[in-house]
Amino acid sequence: MTDLPLSLPDITDAEIDAVVEVLRSGRLSIGPKQELFEDVMAGRIGRRHGIAVSSGTCGLHLILLALGVGPGDEVVTTPFSFVASSNAIVMCGATPVFVDIDPKSLNMTAEAAERAITEKTKAILAVEVFGNPTHMDQLERLANNHEIALVEDSCEGLGGVCAGRKIGSFGRASVFGFYPNKQITTGEGGMILTDDDRLASLCRSMRNQGRPDPKAQRREPVGGGQSTGSWLSHERLGYNYRLSEIAAALGLTQLDRLDGILERRRDVAYEYINMLKDLDDIILPNMPPGEEDTMSWFVFVVRLAAEYGRQERDRIIGGLRRHDVGASNYFPCIHLQPYYREHFGYKQGDFPVAESISDRTIALPFFNRMDATQIELVCHTLKVMIQREQLLRR
Ligand SMILES: *Cc1c(COP(=O)(O)O)cnc(C)c1O
Repeated sequence: MTDLPLSLPDITDAEIDAVVEVLRSGRLSIGPKQELFEDVMAGRIGRRHGIAVSSGTCGLHLILLALGVGPGDEVVTTPFSFVASSNAIVMCGATPVFVDIDPKSLNMTAEAAERAITEKTKAILAVEVFGNPTHMDQLERLANNHEIALVEDSCEGLGGVCAGRKIGSFGRASVFGFYPNKQITTGEGGMILTDDDRLASLCRSMRNQGRPDPKAQRREPVGGGQSTGSWLSHERLGYNYRLSEIAAALGLTQLDRLDGILERRRDVAYEYINMLKDLDDIILPNMPPGEEDTMSWFVFVVRLAAEYGRQERDRIIGGLRRHDVGASNYFPCIHLQPYYREHFGYKQGDFPVAESISDRTIALPFFNRMDATQIELVCHTLKVMIQREQLLRR
């Protein structure tokens, strides 16, 4: 157990009260909280529909299915991400086609994505890794030019802005995740956002065992039969990807506090940057250069200078942990995960930029209520561990 965890959810009495209220109400699933959470979230990002689901991964799976992604299709995506973005493609039976990343933003660029497009490409699945929004507008333009879908995996970017537009407003649909380390949490949960009525309706049906979408039914005045029989009518293969009322109430309260949460996270990040800016051998997170771009701080990840290798990085992470400072290697490249090597034949050297960066990253403790002393403790310990490596090298 580390004294300073990598992340920590920010739960106040407001969240606890909201959850208790649902528990007392007797309505624990498929109720008003879920619908309200969807409406507030869609309104905040400026999309027509929000479809709450039980995780970000489920959201990505459903939207890809709704877009018709299946066996034989390719989806262009980044190897430098949490594994869920790529797993969702595999869950549909399609093939993830990775491209190397931009060493500054750590995201896939439109140029690299374009080179990977073939006749089999059905979609581009793009991520704002660590909350950096760079290139999402260009990826949207690329997808439009090629008449393929852009799915924005915005699971790391809530609150960010790209080219003056909110993260989550790009492409045919976007997906947020609410795992406890995200900007806001529902414990487990996620949400699909889209402007497309048909996609929204398909997602609502598929998250609920393929039952008819109740919102579509409300709009169409179908005569008789339907209303009583629809609970046991399954029009298509569906899943149980619903979000509980308990989780939705938690999400609503967190969303209500989002501005304050984002401000706190930015303050913690800037405090880190201030304390680490003169430290030798450390590369600080690259913030988007544009005036129209805003980073949403999901995690705080630094990287070691190019002369460091993976072994040294792992030793530094081990040293931090031994001193009760949470640390992790965000992210190991997806294409080098055993499953991906085995099933898709990817190997070391396929994406040199992603691999070189992935070998040198260190995620540091990062949570809303970190105080200056805690940040100083992390920075001091990191400095000592790096000095040790410098001595060992002599
Ligand atoms: C967190 C995350 C997800 C979704 O994760 P869940 O745990 O399923 O909610 C998807 N993609 C990325 C890039 C993420 O960081």
